[in-house]
Amino acid sequence: MKSLSTTPEDLDQAAALLRAGQLVAVPTETVYGLAADATQPDAVAAIFRAKNRPADHPLIVHLPGLGHLTQWAARIPDCAWPVIERFWPGPLTLVLPASDKVPGIVNAGQDTVAVRWSSHPLLQQVLDRLQRPVAAPSANPFCRISPTTADHVRHHLAGRIAAVVDGGPCAVGIESTILDLSGERPAILRPGAITAEMLAPYLDLAQAASPDAPRVPGNLASHYAPCLPCYRLEAQETIDRARDERWQDAAVLAIEPPAAAPGWFKRMPPTPDGYARELYASLHAADASGCQAVWIVLPPDEPAWRAVRDRLLRAAQPLSAASQG
Ligand code: AMP
Ligand code: MG
Repeated sequence: MKSLSTTPEDLDQAAALLRAGQLVAVPTETVYGLAADATQPDAVAAIFRAKNRPADHPLIVHLPGLGHLTQWAARIPDCAWPVIERFWPGPLTLVLPASDKVPGIVNAGQDTVAVRWSSHPLLQQVLDRLQRPVAAPSANPFCRISPTTADHVRHHLAGRIAAVVDGGPCAVGIESTILDLSGERPAILRPGAITAEMLAPYLDLAQAASPDAPRVPGNLASHYAPCLPCYRLEAQETIDRARDERWQDAAVLAIEPPAAAPGWFKRMPPTPDGYARELYASLHAADASGCQAVWIVLPPDEPAWRAVRDRLLRAAQPLSAASQG
């Protein structure tokens, strides 16, 4: 895998590789994406092979600019415009009715398409050169932790893709908010940095889907998981658990330093944005810590923490599951 820098020549090369149907990992403000020219079905098919991703998990289409939106969405409801004006480019994906132009492999043959316009200057410069959208899921093997640095991409996908554009660590750190505007009422399918509270002034949002509601394809309960067994506990459980003999073999992530030192400890930022930014890098580091398991002390169950808790609940099982057999 080539490592491309941020020079104009290297960005030319990234665009040329994409145009030739190759896979290139690119930085976005959320996480690194694994990009292929969205107009080339064979190139998009290679994304699924490189990630071991099942074909029924649709991809997000990253637009070079607003001008491309009407070619990929068949219809843009009136309620979309204030949101687009306020939050694009940014970490917000919109699900809209798909146009005929969307290759079936991109949207898993559905009648909707997920589109995004990223604010990352490097991705914008690559797309400016390409003048076509790319389909890009996160640049990690299926069900593994999403990458927030070029090193994470190299670690997981070396030998499987043509190049990575190294744009340094991602500013947001967790995947985009997915807002479905294809149904009767706007609904958040995946929480992210753009929260329900931020969207509410612009839209008549349906209540957040309950955990039992049908999930988006690709929105699996177990997602974003480290290789080590990974368990979660609420903050008030930690005092007892710190007396547990397994505590010494655990890599612990928590906002407050625990009373007893675990095998390895990462102090997490006390704000949702800060925590999100460091979350995946911390899970990657915990995985490499040499410990037997990862224990995550959850941040509070409050609206501001919804996106971070969503990822943690997918990455980690309840600690009680560790005690069974
Ligand atoms: P990833 O890019 O790996 O973060 O995954 C893309 C996410 O977007 C997955 O959760 C998909 O299910 C979701 N997604 C992509 N296209 C659609 C669509 N047409 N309708 C609903 N969800 C979608
Ligand atoms: Mg992903």
